[in-house]
Amino acid sequence: MSKYLVSACLMGHNCKYNGGNNDNAAVRAFLRDKDYVVFCPERASGLPAPRLPSEIRDGRVYSKAGDDVTAEFNAGAEKALAFCQKHGVTHAILKARSPSCGVHAVYDGTFTGKVIPGQGVTANLLSEHGIILMDEEDIPL
Ligand code: SF4
Repeated sequence: MSKYLVSACLMGHNCKYNGGNNDNAAVRAFLRDKDYVVFCPERASGLPAPRLPSEIRDGRVYSKAGDDVTAEFNAGAEKALAFCQKHGVTHAILKARSPSCGVHAVYDGTFTGKVIPGQGVTANLLSEHGIILMDEEDIPL
């Protein structure tokens, strides 16, 4: 039986970097008859909300101020994986283009809005452990 992990911001939790959320009606509708748990890897790592935005560059994660936050992002990914394993998660619906949650693409590290193919840190770790990923834009309407 499928069990979903969902990015908490897609379910209206105010865990996004700017203190807001990405509440998504299509995700909510898709999950209505499904078993799911909600998680935010960046908040789980101890990062505050609001916080500076971060992007991936050359395999590391940097805040917009230039601080290397790779350790925090890796810690969030490890916590997400442990949470998935504890709850028997098989699938994940993650926020598109996030440096933690992005499934198909991420921002390119220049903070200019440019997107390149790639995955967020958490998405990558979950995928490596066999969890099937989709983002909110993959939800069938
Ligand atoms: Fe949403 Fe993921 Fe960013 Fe948390 S880390 S705010 S769940 S995109």
